[in-house]
Amino acid sequence: MKRLAEHRAIVTGGASGIGAAIARRFVAEGARVAVMDRDKEAMALIDDRVPGVDLALVADVTEPAAVDEAFEELDRRWGGLDVAVNNAGISVPGAFADLPLADWERVLRVNLTGVFLVAQRAVRRMRGRGGVVINIASVSGMVGMPNYSAYNVSKAGVIELTRTLALELAPEIRVNAICPGYVLTPMQEAEYSPAALAECARKVPLGRLGRPAEIAALAAYLASDEAEFATGQTFVIDGGETAGGLASA
Ligand code: NDP
Repeated sequence: MKRLAEHRAIVTGGASGIGAAIARRFVAEGARVAVMDRDKEAMALIDDRVPGVDLALVADVTEPAAVDEAFEELDRRWGGLDVAVNNAGISVPGAFADLPLADWERVLRVNLTGVFLVAQRAVRRMRGRGGVVINIASVSGMVGMPNYSAYNVSKAGVIELTRTLALELAPEIRVNAICPGYVLTPMQEAEYSPAALAECARKVPLGRLGRPAEIAALAAYLASDEAEFATGQTFVIDGGETAGGLASA
């Protein structure tokens, strides 16, 4: 069953990791897919990474003019939009006491203001016709985690923006957030040593890191009409990582 036939979907940060997996899954489900990403080298290879991708939009989600230009291209090519996946994100760890203001602002700008800019332009095009917004937040926006204050705050902001937009835009537009736990992607490989990744996997009740395709499967469900009663929610997919909470566990 091609659940996303007739759907036009944009995926930000779709040149790598979770975003590329979502873009691939959406193509497989029959959607017309546009990838927006700032990574020019990765975008040069987008046809290999996301075979069947319809539109490659090189743009930084933090730059309003670039985002506007990308959406204008989308208007020319598609004349509308049905699904927007706000996935582009960065992680900059650092002990709070020494965190440079520039790092704090950079993370909030990409992870939160980037979602504001793209979601706003997307919903303007969905008004009057309906649509779906999916924000990739994180379990880090739901529980505390040392040394990730900017990241955690940005993702908590994405969750709250999701709830607020869902109420503001219902019943026309559905807005949901996905909160992945550890997923093995270039972002994680850049940040953690293989030993640290193995340690993370050991602590996850299901005993491993997530796969980008598993997050993509949830995104495909939320984008589809099968999820037409779901809005304003955060869908956690973390191998059980946040199920507990006891210090003794
Ligand atoms: P990756 O770094 O593998 O992919 C992210 C992509 O987004 C990259 O191509 C990156 O380009 C691009 N990007 C970053 N900033 C911008 C920007 N300003 N404008 C446009 N594109 C941008 O990350 P993941 O696939 O791991 O993460 C995807 C999302 O999932 C993020 O929001 C992340 O926070 C979230 N997430 C990831 C988890 C994980 O364990 N991997 C867990 C929970 C949430 P560039 O290479 O130039 O930075």
